[in-house]
Amino acid sequence: MLTPLAKHLLPWYQNNARALPWRDDPAPYKVWISEIMLQQTRVETVIPYFTRWISALPTIADLAAANLQTVLSLWEGLGYYSRARNLHKAAQIIIQDHGGMLPETIQSLRGLPGIGRYTAAAIASIAFNQDFAALDGNIRRVLTRVYNIREPIGTTQTEKDLWRLAEENLPPGRASEYNQGLMDLGAMICSRRNPHCALCPLKTICKAFALHTQDELPIRPIRMKTPHYTVTAGILQKDDHILIAQRPMKGLLGGLWEFPGGKIEPNEDLTACLRRELLEELDVQVEVGDEYGKYKHAYTHFRITLYAYKCRLTRGEPIAKEHSQVRWVSIGELPDFPMGKIDRQIAKKLISTTMRET
Ligand code: SF4
Repeated sequence: MLTPLAKHLLPWYQNNARALPWRDDPAPYKVWISEIMLQQTRVETVIPYFTRWISALPTIADLAAANLQTVLSLWEGLGYYSRARNLHKAAQIIIQDHGGMLPETIQSLRGLPGIGRYTAAAIASIAFNQDFAALDGNIRRVLTRVYNIREPIGTTQTEKDLWRLAEENLPPGRASEYNQGLMDLGAMICSRRNPHCALCPLKTICKAFALHTQDELPIRPIRMKTPHYTVTAGILQKDDHILIAQRPMKGLLGGLWEFPGGKIEPNEDLTACLRRELLEELDVQVEVGDEYGKYKHAYTHFRITLYAYKCRLTRGEPIAKEHSQVRWVSIGELPDFPMGKIDRQIAKKLISTTMRET
């Protein structure tokens, strides 16, 4: 027996499902990669990354055997790089402990790095057609509106209520269509702003539609102001080579390469900050030269403004005191090293300046 929500949703999904590359052939590996890429990232952004990834690493064995640099390069630009590192680690565990096949049980899936409750349920339902409800941002929004939930999302109680509602409406044997139907409805019809209620298959049962509260929901928790940091980075040049440093594997942008530098301290000016950072990180003294651009970026929990400077070594040879490794590379080699957004912008500027000069 279907609940009214499932009864309205399933036929709509059959006629309106989005054509997505991982849906043509929902092999477990493809479902897994797509679900990890889709965390905190829009479908339109993910599609080209997914296609490129699958053609470079078509199987779990290929992913497990790839070096981390290749994996991070394929991920570059998607952000939240721990997702890529976890995929790589998980693939190696799957080869070692699961005979090279993605495990089918929720418990085994959740035992893999980077797979939490939502991702395990999405894989189990979409790839293995098991009866598990999933709860992502789109599904949260739809359920919050259909049931007119007035508590802020993200609290323990609201999360509990939403998981329960997702599970109560799950039609046995059709979890794949149900989960993906709710995801598509949230993305295409029940959008964050200006939901298209007139076109919605759930409008006859939706409490928010009846009460005209859809624009107020979901209620978001009050956010703290995101802190802002001023940061410097040095472009150290020796002959035709530039120094880049690989960030430690753990932590923000772990395993990516950068132009070394760091955060300014109270009462410090930009050039003093850079001299101190390069001494602490690389054990070198430098003369700070011309500014090479000002770059801004917003991460999830903070924002930065980074000032890059050309620098000249005056004492010492760089060593990796706080990085995994440091390397002198030619400007032409910079595209081979995975980088975060700002460092890639600096690298591109260096490449285009060199091309103009030659
Ligand atoms: S009727 Fe409107 S608010 Fe309700 S689920 Fe549909 S699109 Fe969302």
